[in-house]
Amino acid sequence: DPRLQGISDAIRVVPHFPKPGIMFNDITPLLLRPGVFKDAVDMFVERYRGMGIAAVAGIEARGFIFGPAIALAIGAKFIPLRKPKKLPGDVFSESYALEYGTDCLEMHVGAIEPGERAVVVDDLVATGGTLSAAIKLLERAGADVVECACVIGLPKFKVPLFFFFFFCRGQPIYS
Ligand code: 5GP
Repeated sequence: DPRLQGISDAIRVVPHFPKPGIMFNDITPLLLRPGVFKDAVDMFVERYRGMGIAAVAGIEARGFIFGPAIALAIGAKFIPLRKPKKLPGDVFSESYALEYGTDCLEMHVGAIEPGERAVVVDDLVATGGTLSAAIKLLERAGADVVECACVIGLPKFKVPLFFFFFFCRGQPIYS
């Protein structure tokens, strides 16, 4: 797809951020180019429109940038999956391992009905730990998680850097 090159070109790699040794993939230059931002959202929308997706679940924080635009375009609800103690109502919580320590995602009870089809959106997948926690949260509420969608898949997963990366229950599918 010719749009992928423009998307790839609009992602900046920042060395040693937020810590020495880390190469940070920064999507903010993409957001400054409305045409490229639209291309990125459109590619997800084209994939998920007409699939009976009831919910787009976005992971805090950068899943909140792409997720709502996709949800509105496909006529789905948007569910924020948040860091701990941010949601005011009753929540499901799921902890997951980081390189050093653990983190946690939370979702409001009642955000999704059993059997509803959901897609999880984030900007980037590295180890897949964050997406796995998101899938578990949704499945605990009875949702049918159809797929996860990220703009960037890191090369340790043997996918070309910056390519759209979609994976479904561990099975990579490139677009
Ligand atoms: P994982 O759980 O797959 O190892 O890490 C993915 C999570 O970490 C995502 O929520 C993603 O936003 C964040 N993340 C890790 N490294 C980067 C990076 O280089 N750039 C961006 N934008 N996010 C990152």
